[in-house]
Amino acid sequence: MTKFIDLDLHNQVLKAVTSEGYETPTPIQVQAIPHLLKGRDLLGIAQTGTGKTAAFALPSLNHLLENPAPRKPKQSRVLVLAPTRELALQIADSFRIYARFMDCTVETVFGGVKINGQIRALQKGTHVLVATPGRLLDLIQQKAVHLDTVDILILDEADQMLDLGFINDLRKIIATLPAKRQTLLFSATMPKQIVDLSARFLNDPVKVSVTPQSTTAERVNQGVLHVPNGEKMRVLAALLKDDSIDRALVFTRTKHNADKVVRKLLASGVDAQAIHGNKSQSQRVRTLDAFRQGQCKVLIATDIAARGIDVDGVSHVINFEMPNVAEQYVHRIGRTARAGNSGLAVSLVAEDELYYLRDIEKLTQIDIEILDAPEGCESVILPTPDRSIRPRKPVKQNGGRQRSASSSSSASDRKSSAQKRNRPRHRKGSPHGARTPA
Ligand code: AMP
Repeated sequence: MTKFIDLDLHNQVLKAVTSEGYETPTPIQVQAIPHLLKGRDLLGIAQTGTGKTAAFALPSLNHLLENPAPRKPKQSRVLVLAPTRELALQIADSFRIYARFMDCTVETVFGGVKINGQIRALQKGTHVLVATPGRLLDLIQQKAVHLDTVDILILDEADQMLDLGFINDLRKIIATLPAKRQTLLFSATMPKQIVDLSARFLNDPVKVSVTPQSTTAERVNQGVLHVPNGEKMRVLAALLKDDSIDRALVFTRTKHNADKVVRKLLASGVDAQAIHGNKSQSQRVRTLDAFRQGQCKVLIATDIAARGIDVDGVSHVINFEMPNVAEQYVHRIGRTARAGNSGLAVSLVAEDELYYLRDIEKLTQIDIEILDAPEGCESVILPTPDRSIRPRKPVKQNGGRQRSASSSSSASDRKSSAQKRNRPRHRKGSPHGARTPA
């Protein structure tokens, strides 16, 4: 088995990894790091939870150690682009941890907060800059940052950046980078746009793929409860009474529903908080800290707000509402069972969500087990649906895809075309139709 010591990393990087308690590199680290150390471009299919941050951070820091140069005003040597501020902050934290035995500054820029502090922070330059595309472009246009000394460009969660409408921003940013650089692109999925993007910006990349979408789900214990929409709150409250829950992440499809679930849980005596695109940056940081530190055991989240959140020890993921894109389910349940822990994902499936459940089962190639009703909820559980009957596809809601106009990226981070494209269709009488997703 490959050990970190076999990877030819600089001592200072190795020391940081060891003091973080990592013993063996994860599969993506084993596969990517040797190529990255040789300067190759890389196309990585991996999602959060696979150790991909260290897979790109460690060789980048190694490069800085082997090619030392003083910081230059308004410049950076390594640039990481990420779709959301949460992910950007998390990546920056990881870089700081891995760089703690070397002289390396890490700065973060993202929308939704005042730009002046970021302009000041960039004045002296930095070794590593982690940014969301919209704000970075603003800063480039204001000449607060120049990217002509970037040696390494990392695009993280590229599919999510495209979903959020960042493609033009990415193109403009990349056009300001030196042509001679190392480029890494990580994406959880491989839609055609990502293939095109990599063909355009990567040079003969090494391709690395870990835990394909269909098999990731196998690591998590999964179960389903067939419940009418009107009874989901009762079932959720009963599920959350389980003492074995350390931290539960509950997914809704809309911001409005996330808030509603929090209100109802609080009223029934369950402490819960919500994280979604309508919350201010400081609220989100507070909420996430409380969740991380175990002060609040139940976090209600929308898909995009939760993506990229790295909280160890999420024991339960509960799908209060099913995602209408099967891959999103895999992302959701991937929030538990991280770093080798086991986790439980429970989906509350109403009659009008059965179609999505079958789609998910097709993608993951798992017939998700039907769970026993939680105590006191036996009477509200629906009869087991007949598998031989193919459920009808529900009428489109929110434009038919669970992509979101609103997310943890701020308005200034998004392009107006994306906002127009994602504007929800108003459907009277629909539980979700009148709401903005995520
Ligand atoms: P990521 O996929 O980068 O979000 O990483 C997921 C989690 O795995 C983070 O909490 C990392 O600290 C942790 N991690 C990354 N690499 C390793 C490793 N080789 N051994 C143990 N934990 C790791």
